[in-house]
Amino acid sequence: MKPVVVIVGRPNVGKSTLFNRLTRSRAAIVADEPGVTRDRQYGDGVIGDRPYHVVDTGGIAQALSERKGGDALRELMTAQVREALAEADAILFLVDVREGLNALDREIAGDLRRLGKPVTLAVNKAEGMDRANAAAEFHALGLGDPWPVSSAHGEGISDLMAHVLAPL
Ligand code: GDP
Ligand code: MG
Repeated sequence: MKPVVVIVGRPNVGKSTLFNRLTRSRAAIVADEPGVTRDRQYGDGVIGDRPYHVVDTGGIAQALSERKGGDALRELMTAQVREALAEADAILFLVDVREGLNALDREIAGDLRRLGKPVTLAVNKAEGMDRANAAAEFHALGLGDPWPVSSAHGEGISDLMAHVLAPL
């Protein structure tokens, strides 16, 4: 069975860009408008000789616009995202170094930790920056060392995926 890696994160952090790079497809819709990906998007990736399934999620944005209060994951994410997380062998939590750490990142991180599945924190849009320094503030999320990457430019992606797949 190929492991299933699920990409989650706030709108516009670059989830679909990463998905497209991992699957070498144009399947996921990338746009400047947050929340464009409505449903789960499935693809296949390979790192070295290890194949895996990758799932792009877009439901957080949709859920937020409908949010009525409270901060539990179930209120932040649609059923689509919850179902994706339920079938995940590993979770790839993507944040945006250009926007920096924000309250929603903290909420998502807390709830992802409680799922008890392996979570890797990737700090996207780090091209042209001192990548280690840029990612440092995200240590505060309590998800271990943040992995600086650039999904758009393909920087740090192989190392990231090797780390994600290592325990699986
Ligand atoms: P999603 O909402 O999380 O799926 O984000 P998208 O993949 O649709 O990307 C949102 C925006 O961020 C688009 O304008 C992308 O071109 C841009 N983007 C994605 N990855 C990177 C990156 O590594 N660096 C930069 N500078 N922009 C990126
Ligand atoms: Mg998307």
